[in-house]
Amino acid sequence: MRQEIINDIKKEYQKKRLRSKAELQMRRTELYEMLPEIKTIDNTISKLSLEVSRLAFTRPANFEKKMEDCRVTINELREEKKSILEKRKIPDIYLKEVHSCSKCSDTGYVDGKMCSCYKQLLINELYNISGLGQLLEKENFDTFDLSKFDDAKYGNEKMSQRENMKQVFRAALHYTDNFHKSNKNLLFYGGTGLGKTFTCNCIAKELMGKGIVVLYQTAFRMFETISEHKFNRSAESYENKDNYSMIYNADLLIIDDLGSESINSFTNTELFNILNSRMINNKKTIVSTNLSLEKMSEIYSDRIISRIMSTYGMIKFFGKDIRTR
Ligand SMILES: [Zn+2]
Repeated sequence: MRQEIINDIKKEYQKKRLRSKAELQMRRTELYEMLPEIKTIDNTISKLSLEVSRLAFTRPANFEKKMEDCRVTINELREEKKSILEKRKIPDIYLKEVHSCSKCSDTGYVDGKMCSCYKQLLINELYNISGLGQLLEKENFDTFDLSKFDDAKYGNEKMSQRENMKQVFRAALHYTDNFHKSNKNLLFYGGTGLGKTFTCNCIAKELMGKGIVVLYQTAFRMFETISEHKFNRSAESYENKDNYSMIYNADLLIIDDLGSESINSFTNTELFNILNSRMINNKKTIVSTNLSLEKMSEIYSDRIISRIMSTYGMIKFFGKDIRTR
C-alpha cells in the first residue's frame, strides 16, 4: 500500500519537473522570437561548449590555449547576453527552470534525505485515504482536554473518569511512540460519548504524521465497502476498490463503533477474516465499540472473541457522556 502511495508521489514529482522544463522551453521560444540575437548567442555558446568537451577529449596540439580561448569567448557572450536582458528588464529567472520547491528542485530529496515538501505530500496523501480528512485538525493529542472529564470517583470504578482518561492518554501516546516495535492491537470499549473516537483520531493523526498508512472506518461503513466489493463487483467504484484493499493492507486499521453494523453470519465471517489476516501479516488494528465485553461475546463468534482477547490490549472507557455535560 505504502509503495503504491510512494509511486504516485514519485510520478507527481516527475510531472512537476517535466512541466517546469516545458515552461522554460516556452519562455525561451518566446524570448528568441522577441530577441533573435539571444538565440544566436545561445547557439554559439552551445557550440563552444561542445568544442571545449571535444578538445578535452582529443587533446590536440596547443589544446590548453584553444580551450582557454573558448572559455573567454563563452564568458564574453554570457556577459553580452546578460546586458541585453538587463536593458530589456527581463529577469534572470526567465531563462531558468522554476521549481515549486527550491530546496529539492522537485526531486523530493535533499542529500539523500526526504525533503520537507515530500513529507508534506505523503502526509496529505495519507490524510486523503484515511477517511478522516479535516477532522484531525480539531481532534489530536494537542487538543486532548482532560478538564472535560469528571474528576469525582465514578460508581464502582477505582478512579474518576478524568484519572482513567489520563491513563488512556498515556497508553495512546505509548502506542504511537512504539508503533513499529510492538505488535499490539487495541480494543476500546465503553458507552457512547466517552472519548473513544476522539482517542482513535489522536492516534491516527500522530501516526500519519510519521508517514504510517492509517484507515479509519466505522464498522457500518466497512461492511458496506466489503459487500460492495463482494456482491457488486462489476459496478464497484475505484474508491471502493481502494478502500477494500486498505482494510487489509493499511498499517493501522481503526474499526470504530463495532456493533453498529447489521450483525449476521456474513459480517461475522468477514470480521474474523480481517482480524485474522491482519494479525498474520503483522498489521495492527484498533477496534472501538460501545458494547460491553459480555455483549460482544454474545454477538460475535468464539474465534473472533478469542483472537481479540488473546492479542488485544483492553482499554476501558467509563463515566458520563461528555457531550451532555
Ligand atoms: Zn522539496
